[in-house]
Amino acid sequence: MARLPIRLFPDPVLRVRCAEVSVFDADLEQLVADMTETMHAAPGIGLAAPQVGIEQRVALVDLSVGKEPEDLHVLINPRIVESDGSGVEPEGCLSIPDFTEKVSRPTHLRLEFQDLQGTTQELEADDWLARAICHELDHLDGVLFVDHLRGLRREKAKRALRKMLKEAR
Ligand SMILES: [Zn+2]
Repeated sequence: MARLPIRLFPDPVLRVRCAEVSVFDADLEQLVADMTETMHAAPGIGLAAPQVGIEQRVALVDLSVGKEPEDLHVLINPRIVESDGSGVEPEGCLSIPDFTEKVSRPTHLRLEFQDLQGTTQELEADDWLARAICHELDHLDGVLFVDHLRGLRREKAKRALRKMLKEAR
């Protein structure tokens, strides 16, 4: 396994609409293993493939950050089939360090995804798990959590992003 460098805003790979995974092979297994190590080391509760520069629909969520193996969800080609409720809680992102802001997300989700063997699976998620999944799935479409902010929260985010832009130059 290897830790991968995490891409930071304003890296353009964070704005790509990622491609569906169609080959379920050893390379995909390796990518997921490396992403898992990278997420746990960060430490983070979620990581999407574009955050390590890979434009494929692969996302990981692990609210236990490696403490509970059954909490690791490997979501390949995930698709939300049902969502309801809404809750506002603070969020952050490994690609936008040192910035958190409250975001509205559904509190319940049902999703379909494929596992490492390419088999379709279903998952129901509530509250923080639902929130983390929404955040990671957004990444697969080039959407960042700051895109959901409005009003004053959006102004705060803009300032933080402008600072990152300056530092990246
Ligand atoms: Zn993120």
